[in-house]
Amino acid sequence: MSLTSDEDLVRFSRFLLAPEVSENSLQRLKASSATVIGVGGLGCPVALYLAAAGLGRLRLIDPDKVEISNLPRQILFGPGDAGRTKVQVATERLGTLHPSTQIEALAEAVTANNAQSLLSGTNLVIDCTDRFAARHVVNEACHRLGVPLVIGSALQWSGQLLVVDPRKKGSGCYACLFPTEDEQPAVIDAACGAYGVVSTAVGLVGLMQANEALKLLMGMPAPTGQLWQLEARSLGLETMRFRPRRDCLVCGGLGEE
Ligand SMILES: [Zn+2]
Repeated sequence: MSLTSDEDLVRFSRFLLAPEVSENSLQRLKASSATVIGVGGLGCPVALYLAAAGLGRLRLIDPDKVEISNLPRQILFGPGDAGRTKVQVATERLGTLHPSTQIEALAEAVTANNAQSLLSGTNLVIDCTDRFAARHVVNEACHRLGVPLVIGSALQWSGQLLVVDPRKKGSGCYACLFPTEDEQPAVIDAACGAYGVVSTAVGLVGLMQANEALKLLMGMPAPTGQLWQLEARSLGLETMRFRPRRDCLVCGGLGEE
Protein backbone atom coordinates (compact mmCIF):
# COMPACT_ATOMS: atom_id res chain seq x y z
CA MET A 1 0.00 0.00 0.00
CA SER A 2 1.30 3.45 -0.87
CA LEU A 3 2.05 5.79 2.03
CA THR A 4 2.07 8.81 -0.25
CA SER A 5 -1.14 10.86 -0.31
CA ASP A 6 -2.92 11.76 -3.56
CA GLU A 7 -2.12 15.40 -2.87
CA ASP A 8 1.58 14.59 -2.64
CA LEU A 9 1.43 12.55 -5.84
CA VAL A 10 0.08 15.62 -7.64
CA ARG A 11 2.46 18.05 -5.95
CA PHE A 12 5.55 15.98 -6.67
CA SER A 13 4.42 14.50 -10.00
CA ARG A 14 7.28 16.07 -12.04
CA PHE A 15 9.87 15.14 -9.44
CA LEU A 16 8.65 11.54 -9.37
CA LEU A 17 9.26 11.22 -13.11
CA ALA A 18 12.99 11.84 -12.68
CA PRO A 19 15.43 8.87 -12.65
CA GLU A 20 16.27 7.45 -9.21
CA VAL A 21 13.28 9.20 -7.61
CA SER A 22 10.36 7.17 -6.31
CA GLU A 23 7.57 7.35 -3.76
CA ASN A 24 10.08 5.88 -1.37
CA SER A 25 12.30 8.95 -1.92
CA LEU A 26 9.40 11.20 -0.93
CA GLN A 27 8.67 9.12 2.15
CA ARG A 28 12.31 9.28 3.18
CA LEU A 29 12.32 13.07 2.80
CA LYS A 30 9.11 13.37 4.80
CA ALA A 31 10.56 11.25 7.60
CA SER A 32 13.89 13.13 7.64
CA SER A 33 15.27 15.98 9.67
CA ALA A 34 17.96 18.36 8.42
CA THR A 35 19.76 21.17 10.21
CA VAL A 36 20.83 24.36 8.48
CA ILE A 37 23.48 26.36 10.33
CA GLY A 38 23.50 29.96 9.21
CA VAL A 39 20.39 31.40 7.55
CA GLY A 40 22.19 33.79 5.22
CA GLY A 41 23.06 33.81 1.53
CA LEU A 42 23.63 30.06 1.52
CA GLY A 43 21.11 29.02 4.16
CA CYS A 44 18.13 30.84 2.60
CA PRO A 45 18.13 28.90 -0.70
CA VAL A 46 19.02 25.65 1.09
CA ALA A 47 16.07 26.02 3.49
CA LEU A 48 13.67 27.06 0.71
CA TYR A 49 14.57 24.14 -1.56
CA LEU A 50 14.55 21.50 1.15
CA ALA A 51 11.17 22.63 2.48
CA ALA A 52 9.78 22.80 -1.07
CA ALA A 53 11.09 19.28 -1.72
CA GLY A 54 8.95 17.95 1.13
CA LEU A 55 11.46 17.63 3.97
CA GLY A 56 9.71 16.64 7.21
CA ARG A 57 11.66 18.63 9.78
CA LEU A 58 14.05 21.52 9.38
CA ARG A 59 16.13 22.99 12.19
CA LEU A 60 17.43 26.50 11.59
CA ILE A 61 20.30 27.83 13.70
CA ASP A 62 21.49 31.44 13.48
CA PRO A 63 21.92 34.08 16.19
CA ASP A 64 21.83 37.07 13.80
CA LYS A 65 19.20 39.62 12.97
CA VAL A 66 18.22 40.72 9.47
CA GLU A 67 20.13 43.74 8.15
CA ILE A 68 19.37 45.78 5.04
CA SER A 69 22.76 44.78 3.54
CA ASN A 70 21.61 41.12 3.67
CA LEU A 71 18.68 41.59 1.31
CA PRO A 72 20.37 41.17 -2.13
CA ARG A 73 21.25 37.54 -1.37
CA GLN A 74 19.24 36.42 1.67
CA ILE A 75 16.06 35.78 -0.25
CA LEU A 76 13.77 34.83 2.63
CA PHE A 77 13.87 38.41 3.95
CA GLY A 78 12.47 41.80 2.96
CA PRO A 79 13.04 45.40 4.11
CA GLY A 80 10.30 45.12 6.75
CA ASP A 81 12.20 42.32 8.49
CA ALA A 82 15.25 44.41 9.40
CA GLY A 83 16.09 44.04 13.08
CA ARG A 84 14.17 40.78 13.51
CA THR A 85 15.85 37.46 14.17
CA LYS A 86 16.64 35.62 10.93
CA VAL A 87 15.40 32.26 12.18
CA GLN A 88 12.10 33.80 13.29
CA VAL A 89 11.43 35.46 9.94
CA ALA A 90 12.56 32.35 8.05
CA THR A 91 10.19 30.19 10.11
CA GLU A 92 7.25 32.44 9.25
CA ARG A 93 8.05 32.59 5.50
CA LEU A 94 8.70 28.87 5.17
CA GLY A 95 5.61 28.11 7.26
CA THR A 96 3.46 30.08 4.80
CA LEU A 97 5.04 28.53 1.70
CA HIS A 98 5.49 24.97 2.90
CA PRO A 99 3.36 24.34 6.00
CA SER A 100 3.99 20.59 5.93
CA THR A 101 7.62 21.10 6.98
CA GLN A 102 8.05 21.45 10.74
CA ILE A 103 10.52 24.21 11.52
CA GLU A 104 12.57 24.45 14.68
CA ALA A 105 14.20 27.86 15.12
CA LEU A 106 17.24 28.32 17.32
CA ALA A 107 18.62 31.86 17.58
CA GLU A 108 21.97 30.67 18.86
CA ALA A 109 25.55 30.50 17.68
CA VAL A 110 27.09 27.05 17.35
CA THR A 111 30.10 26.77 19.64
CA ALA A 112 32.39 23.97 20.76
CA ASN A 113 30.35 23.75 23.97
CA ASN A 114 26.89 23.39 22.46
CA ALA A 115 27.53 21.90 18.99
CA GLN A 116 26.84 18.31 19.85
CA SER A 117 23.56 19.02 21.63
CA LEU A 118 22.37 21.47 18.93
CA LEU A 119 23.10 18.98 16.15
CA SER A 120 21.91 15.78 17.74
CA GLY A 121 18.78 14.07 16.45
CA THR A 122 19.22 15.25 12.88
CA ASN A 123 19.87 13.16 9.76
CA LEU A 124 21.98 15.73 7.95
CA VAL A 125 23.74 19.01 8.68
CA ILE A 126 24.20 21.75 6.09
CA ASP A 127 26.87 24.25 7.09
CA CYS A 128 26.02 27.67 5.71
CA THR A 129 28.12 29.79 8.08
CA ASP A 130 30.78 32.19 6.89
CA ARG A 131 33.34 31.37 9.54
CA PHE A 132 36.27 28.94 9.36
CA ALA A 133 36.21 28.43 13.11
CA ALA A 134 32.50 27.55 13.12
CA ARG A 135 32.98 25.07 10.27
CA HIS A 136 35.70 23.28 12.23
CA VAL A 137 33.41 23.03 15.26
CA VAL A 138 30.55 21.69 13.13
CA ASN A 139 32.84 19.26 11.29
CA GLU A 140 34.06 17.82 14.57
CA ALA A 141 30.57 17.53 16.08
CA CYS A 142 29.23 15.79 12.95
CA HIS A 143 32.12 13.37 13.04
CA ARG A 144 31.34 12.49 16.66
CA LEU A 145 27.63 12.13 15.93
CA GLY A 146 28.20 10.19 12.68
CA VAL A 147 26.02 12.63 10.75
CA PRO A 148 26.78 13.64 7.13
CA LEU A 149 27.63 17.26 6.51
CA VAL A 150 27.38 19.47 3.42
CA ILE A 151 29.65 22.51 3.66
CA GLY A 152 29.41 25.54 1.41
CA SER A 153 31.22 28.84 1.25
CA ALA A 154 31.26 31.83 -1.07
CA LEU A 155 33.40 34.91 -1.50
CA GLN A 156 33.10 37.54 -4.22
CA TRP A 157 32.47 35.54 -7.47
CA SER A 158 33.72 32.20 -6.21
CA GLY A 159 32.46 29.41 -4.03
CA GLN A 160 33.32 26.00 -2.64
CA LEU A 161 31.38 22.88 -1.77
CA LEU A 162 32.42 19.84 0.24
CA VAL A 163 30.46 16.79 1.38
CA VAL A 164 31.69 15.03 4.51
CA ASP A 165 30.22 11.68 5.45
CA PRO A 166 31.59 10.16 8.68
CA ARG A 167 29.59 6.99 7.91
CA LYS A 168 31.88 6.36 4.92
CA LYS A 169 35.23 5.08 6.09
CA GLY A 170 38.17 6.87 4.52
CA SER A 171 36.16 9.70 3.00
CA GLY A 172 38.00 12.48 4.84
CA CYS A 173 36.67 15.59 6.51
CA TYR A 174 36.91 19.36 6.52
CA ALA A 175 39.93 19.31 8.83
CA CYS A 176 41.81 17.04 6.39
CA LEU A 177 41.60 19.86 3.83
CA PHE A 178 41.86 22.87 6.09
CA PRO A 179 43.92 21.89 9.12
CA THR A 180 43.11 24.14 12.02
CA GLU A 181 46.73 24.67 13.00
CA ASP A 182 47.73 25.79 9.50
CA GLU A 183 44.98 28.31 9.07
CA GLN A 184 44.75 31.89 10.18
CA PRO A 185 41.11 32.10 11.21
CA ALA A 186 41.41 35.65 12.47
CA VAL A 187 42.44 36.82 8.99
CA ILE A 188 40.12 34.67 6.92
CA ASP A 189 37.07 35.03 9.12
CA ALA A 190 34.76 37.93 8.36
CA ALA A 191 35.88 37.57 4.73
CA CYS A 192 32.37 38.09 3.39
CA GLY A 193 32.08 41.42 5.15
CA ALA A 194 35.60 42.48 4.27
CA TYR A 195 35.80 41.38 0.62
CA GLY A 196 32.20 41.21 -0.51
CA VAL A 197 30.11 38.54 -2.15
CA VAL A 198 27.98 38.36 -5.30
CA SER A 199 24.40 37.29 -4.62
CA THR A 200 24.09 34.88 -7.54
CA ALA A 201 27.44 33.23 -6.79
CA VAL A 202 26.44 32.52 -3.20
CA GLY A 203 23.02 31.40 -4.43
CA LEU A 204 24.60 28.90 -6.83
CA VAL A 205 26.63 27.37 -4.01
CA GLY A 206 23.48 27.21 -1.85
CA LEU A 207 21.70 25.32 -4.63
CA MET A 208 24.64 22.94 -4.96
CA GLN A 209 24.39 22.29 -1.20
CA ALA A 210 20.64 21.71 -1.48
CA ASN A 211 21.28 19.29 -4.36
CA GLU A 212 23.74 17.21 -2.35
CA ALA A 213 21.50 17.38 0.73
CA LEU A 214 18.50 16.14 -1.23
CA LYS A 215 20.48 13.20 -2.60
CA LEU A 216 21.78 12.20 0.84
CA LEU A 217 18.34 12.51 2.44
CA MET A 218 16.81 10.33 -0.29
CA GLY A 219 19.48 7.69 0.31
CA MET A 220 21.48 8.38 -2.83
CA PRO A 221 25.28 8.62 -2.83
CA ALA A 222 26.88 12.07 -2.74
CA PRO A 223 30.56 12.25 -3.75
CA THR A 224 32.98 12.75 -0.86
CA GLY A 225 36.74 13.27 -0.82
CA GLN A 226 36.56 16.14 -3.25
CA LEU A 227 36.20 19.88 -3.15
CA TRP A 228 34.16 21.63 -5.84
CA GLN A 229 35.34 25.10 -6.72
CA LEU A 230 32.94 27.38 -8.55
CA GLU A 231 33.96 30.53 -10.44
CA ALA A 232 30.74 32.34 -11.31
CA ARG A 233 32.14 34.82 -13.88
CA SER A 234 33.35 32.05 -16.21
CA LEU A 235 30.76 29.62 -14.81
CA GLY A 236 33.61 27.19 -14.29
CA LEU A 237 33.35 24.28 -11.89
CA GLU A 238 36.54 22.47 -10.95
CA THR A 239 36.88 19.39 -8.80
CA MET A 240 39.85 18.89 -6.55
CA ARG A 241 40.24 15.41 -5.10
CA PHE A 242 41.96 15.05 -1.76
CA ARG A 243 43.18 12.20 0.36
CA PRO A 244 42.18 12.04 4.01
CA ARG A 245 45.09 12.93 6.29
CA ARG A 246 46.26 10.17 8.57
CA ASP A 247 47.22 12.80 11.13
CA CYS A 248 43.87 14.62 10.90
CA LEU A 249 42.84 15.62 14.43
CA VAL A 250 39.19 14.87 13.67
CA CYS A 251 39.04 11.77 11.46
CA GLY A 252 42.70 10.72 11.65
CA GLY A 253 43.31 7.14 10.61
CA LEU A 254 40.04 6.83 8.75
CA GLY A 255 41.87 7.38 5.49
CA GLU A 256 44.41 4.62 5.95
CA GLU A 257 44.12 1.82 3.49
ZN1 LIG B 1 39.82 14.60 8.63
